[in-house]
Amino acid sequence: MFLPAILGIFLFLGHPQGVPAGPCSQPKIIDQLLSWGYRTIPHPRKIEAIIIHSSYNILTPDSFSIAGILREYKQIDVSPHYIIGRNGDIYRLVADSDIAYHAGKSRLPDGKTDVNSVSIGIELVNTIHDSPTNAQYASLVLLVRCLESKYSLKYVLGHKDIAPGRKTDPWNFDWKKFDEMLGRAARGRSAQPR
Ligand SMILES: [Zn+2]
Repeated sequence: MFLPAILGIFLFLGHPQGVPAGPCSQPKIIDQLLSWGYRTIPHPRKIEAIIIHSSYNILTPDSFSIAGILREYKQIDVSPHYIIGRNGDIYRLVADSDIAYHAGKSRLPDGKTDVNSVSIGIELVNTIHDSPTNAQYASLVLLVRCLESKYSLKYVLGHKDIAPGRKTDPWNFDWKKFDEMLGRAARGRSAQPR
């Protein structure tokens, strides 16, 4: 087979421009929609980026308690769209169509500064001293693939990539491993459109 033709078919299938978003058959997503940390808008939004974060629970001894993390989010009125627990469970906290407050003051490589408006935030439950688990990587890869099939994404970046000097997460995240699991060559993650 002619390789460019194969790649062309792959890209076409992977990025169905203008095709209504359907449910992905995987991964399994547990809906736990919140009442804070986002706003709804009266029109569809253009989703261009996925931003990966780390969160842990600082208020109780169980650093990995999702319930504890959600209480912290509530106190400061923030949320990602998704959070992935240590066992790989994916919780949807905010609908993709809503603007979640996860990026703060930040900037995409193309210069956009209202990052929340054009992005989806994914939190990995992880402390600064731990690494994400294999189950988290596996779930994240499935979730990113699902989102890439629905939206024309330009970027998959870490929080620290869009808020350098202000943010340091995702902590101990192995981008090479992530890219390999996604089935891609390393992409120079810091600022490369994809
Ligand atoms: Zn973050």
